[in-house]
Amino acid sequence: MTGARHQRAQRPAMSKARGRGPERAGQARRPNPVLQAAPLLLLLALAVPALAAGPETGAPTDPAGAAAAAYYPRGFPPPEVAEPGLPVMGLVRVVLLTALAAGMAWVTHWIFTDTQFVGTDRALWSGEALGVGLVSLAVACLVPWLYAGLPLGAAMFGGAAVAYVVHRNARVTPPLRVLGRAHAARLAGRRSASEPGVTVQAVAPDVTFLGYDDIPRVPESDSFEQRRAALEVARMVGEAIDRGAMALGLLVRPKGGEVRYQVGGEMVAGAPLDPALAADAVRTFKHLTDLDPNETRKPQEGRIQAVTAGRTYDLRIKTSGTVRGEQVAVRIRDQATTRLRLEDLGLTDDPRQALTAGLDTRPGVVLVSAPRHAGLTTTLHACLRHFDRYVDNVVAFEPRVDLEIENVDHVPLDQEDGPVAASEVRQRLHMEPDVVSVDALHDPDVARALLESGGAAPEGGVTPRTLVIGLRAGDASQALGRLVGLLGSPEPLARHLSAVVNQRLVRLLCPACKEAYRPNPQFLRKANLAVEAIETLYRPPSRTDVSDGHVAVCPDCRNHRYVGRTGLFEVMPLDDEARRLLARRALTALRTHCRKLGMRNLQEEGLRLILDGQTSVEEVLRAIKND
Ligand SMILES: [Zn+2]
Repeated sequence: MTGARHQRAQRPAMSKARGRGPERAGQARRPNPVLQAAPLLLLLALAVPALAAGPETGAPTDPAGAAAAAYYPRGFPPPEVAEPGLPVMGLVRVVLLTALAAGMAWVTHWIFTDTQFVGTDRALWSGEALGVGLVSLAVACLVPWLYAGLPLGAAMFGGAAVAYVVHRNARVTPPLRVLGRAHAARLAGRRSASEPGVTVQAVAPDVTFLGYDDIPRVPESDSFEQRRAALEVARMVGEAIDRGAMALGLLVRPKGGEVRYQVGGEMVAGAPLDPALAADAVRTFKHLTDLDPNETRKPQEGRIQAVTAGRTYDLRIKTSGTVRGEQVAVRIRDQATTRLRLEDLGLTDDPRQALTAGLDTRPGVVLVSAPRHAGLTTTLHACLRHFDRYVDNVVAFEPRVDLEIENVDHVPLDQEDGPVAASEVRQRLHMEPDVVSVDALHDPDVARALLESGGAAPEGGVTPRTLVIGLRAGDASQALGRLVGLLGSPEPLARHLSAVVNQRLVRLLCPACKEAYRPNPQFLRKANLAVEAIETLYRPPSRTDVSDGHVAVCPDCRNHRYVGRTGLFEVMPLDDEARRLLARRALTALRTHCRKLGMRNLQEEGLRLILDGQTSVEEVLRAIKND
């Protein structure tokens, strides 16, 4: 009979443990000993109460039965009172212990997922919960008297869980804290009504989403999974913005979700997502932008605004199916930077004057260059805003029109078919615009069309014009060489070239957590930053943990170490001598001449930022390396 009950009790425990298998599979694949052991420990945790319950309820070892046998003399068997009662008590105990084990397993799993949200040590806290959970279960099973063992075990585990809650609550903003008044209000509020304001607060305290009608878009939050996904989406977008990323990518595969942030030209990996969360996050992105959540194959595109820290960002979201999953690509644009003027770009006085003088020269040609992902379009737009667009007729040729400036005629121009694009440019030039810009010029036909017949000073035309040419290049001389190469000769350029600019984007160190240090002079010299008598420079903090082994989180940058970006500029001032050198195609001599005129190169501009404590040596080296 004991054996039969033993079996019966064990079966539900086993099936429970098996049921958790697939859910844990994705997480257990990561190389983490605690996580690999987790399913086994969980199985044990669920089996222990059932095993322990067996002998306890058997009559031969029952202390009450033995005492009764000793009390009654031989020949007077004790009355059989215990028989019907004991099995019931045993069953209650098994149920209670199993419930306790299940509760502990749920809390442990929650801690496991929650550590990722709050960015704390997952192995440490999951391990703590599992370890204390097993000890608590042992206490609950082995302390002989049922009603003492159970509460004691529960209290031990509760203590461990509360310790985690205190730890995680200290790391997040009030709306994200659990087991507090705000949490209770949130639970109550969610049941009553879906007030947009309340839910936006609860779901994403740092990032809120707005439609272009300026009405908040609230992610679905009916289930735990949806709330988890909504939090994750807000967290990803927030992290992308904090990192100054131009794009965010989420690739969903059967084994999980890969997150990538495009920072400058670099792709930075984010924390991976488990498969269920990744799929839910894709649905959340679609729900936010009113895309069809069930369309997982065909490309879809939507737009939404994200607001964080008082700034508004445009998000352009594209979803599409891949061979074995789905992907989401989010392009991020700061509305403030898309309204930037020349004064806001981070240009120091002399280069800015050289650039504005170049733009004001008519006829004139200004060449703006940058490597890929270094803000070329932003700078071109800032140049266009320099003109009085109510007086001047301004035309901008762009590969893709993402953002329109008031009173500028934006013309999409596909340079893949050069002759077609060139004839389109010629047609526009017949209308005699005062200012013409072209973004990412790379086709020789288009280049010749822009500069032919004097280009900036058309022979038969009436109005001299300013031509602003944007092209991809690593420095100012290289840009000039490339443009001359496209034209086939420096001749059309030499007469009217008025300024050449090259730029990079540099991330700025978080003022709250940057670390001062005494630089190693040899390293500086090697890095081409010849510097005398520098006492202190700044860098991202090299240590993140504080004395008690916990990781400190910077409230300003959430440990991304950099907040915001600025431009580094190299501006070539051009005088008649420079133009003569250009006409002779003597680009090296031209560069030397410009240096004599006071041109500062990217290294020197970067050094200024480093000495200012605004950024680190490593960041400047990353930005100016030529690729
Ligand atoms: Zn910081």
